[in-house]
Amino acid sequence: MQGITVLGATGSIGLSTLDVIGRHPDRYEVFALTAHSRIDELAALCDRFNPRYAVVRCPDDIARLQARLTTRATEVLAGQDALEAVASHSDCDTVMAAIVGAAGLLPTLAAVRAGKRVLLANKEALVMAGALFMEAVRGHGATLLPIDSEHNAIFQCLPSGMAGLERGGVEKILLTASGGPFRTFTPAQLADVTPDQACKHPNWSMGRKISVDSATLMNKGLEFIEACWLFDARPDQIEILVHPQSIIHSLVQYVDGSTLAQLGNPDMRTPIAHALAWPERIAAGVPRLDLTRHALDFQAPDEARFPCLRLARQAMSAGGTAPAVLNAANEVAVAAFLEGEIPFTAIPGVIDRVLTQLPMSQAANLDTILDADRAAREAARASLPLCRK
Ligand code: NAD
Ligand code: MG
Repeated sequence: MQGITVLGATGSIGLSTLDVIGRHPDRYEVFALTAHSRIDELAALCDRFNPRYAVVRCPDDIARLQARLTTRATEVLAGQDALEAVASHSDCDTVMAAIVGAAGLLPTLAAVRAGKRVLLANKEALVMAGALFMEAVRGHGATLLPIDSEHNAIFQCLPSGMAGLERGGVEKILLTASGGPFRTFTPAQLADVTPDQACKHPNWSMGRKISVDSATLMNKGLEFIEACWLFDARPDQIEILVHPQSIIHSLVQYVDGSTLAQLGNPDMRTPIAHALAWPERIAAGVPRLDLTRHALDFQAPDEARFPCLRLARQAMSAGGTAPAVLNAANEVAVAAFLEGEIPFTAIPGVIDRVLTQLPMSQAANLDTILDADRAAREAARASLPLCRK
């Protein structure tokens, strides 16, 4: 029996994870579930999975959750320390890191430092703190398995897990992108899109923040940085390829001319099941792919209409705290767009302004990263009035 902590249990990835876990009661038991806001949903999950712990945002929420639980078997905790405690507890084997954004960094790092098997959906944590995160994985003997469908696909196509690319004869990683809901929009059309349009992804059903990131292509920018760290790849070894059907989840090209791809229906339960059971395979409840029903198209990304890709590349080459600044400014800009404060097309401008304004620190330790995150949020908020319609 593997004990699993699901950080961000009420989210899109959290719920898909629990769907897969629920199919294999002989293999997995839920050790802890955490949520930020949806107390009713968390209560229903606790009733179904009987975790030892549930973690909510603040002390006031403890009583609210307890009042909704039908059993007393689950102990309810609150706050940041509790998130880190359930992620690093000695009775937990595997942590699904599925909190969205920078809020996931410290609990995910706590799991890594406790040497857990860490299933990483929370790409923002790795983007912010890549070097120290990967150092902690190595230093504490953690097993890091990618959940992002593209990175999970790459992992499956690499020779032996995450060994060095060159030694394995790998020439290039082809990171696929759906292009998002606005792939074919003109700049004038992009200026008028609404949050609801941005959150309607053609192939995937996801949380609102990552849906907007997919629409601006910042999601691919973050995934480019994520891939550099996960696979120890140089930026020039990663090529982004738009593939609107999201059937091929990414590819790996070898020196002998072979190109390996992983295919499947766009359903996150496949990479989740893969990482949960790795190196074994388990059923995920995902319908089988019928290739007679899909055309597979590919094109190069258009960085002029989607400048977030260029900004992510710039931040990765600048190094140090720059990716943390990029991520924080993006979180503020996306939240402002979702609140109707700025137009969609203002998002890259906010990030660009903050990246240009803030001094970079090359010495990226946890303190400088968290300071950069705070400073970037402040600078991004200050720049919002300049970007309104
Ligand atoms: P979501 O918004 O649906 O869920 C987020 C979860 O995090 C919720 O359980 C929420 O309660 C919790 N949370 C939010 N803010 C928090 C905070 N400040 N402190 C503690 N908990 C907090 O998001 P999602 O779509 O499930 O995405 C989760 C992560 O997985 C993101 O990093 C995203 O980039 C990544 N990811 C998602 C998908 C997908 O298909 N949804 C695919 C690949 C990667
Ligand atoms: Mg992805």
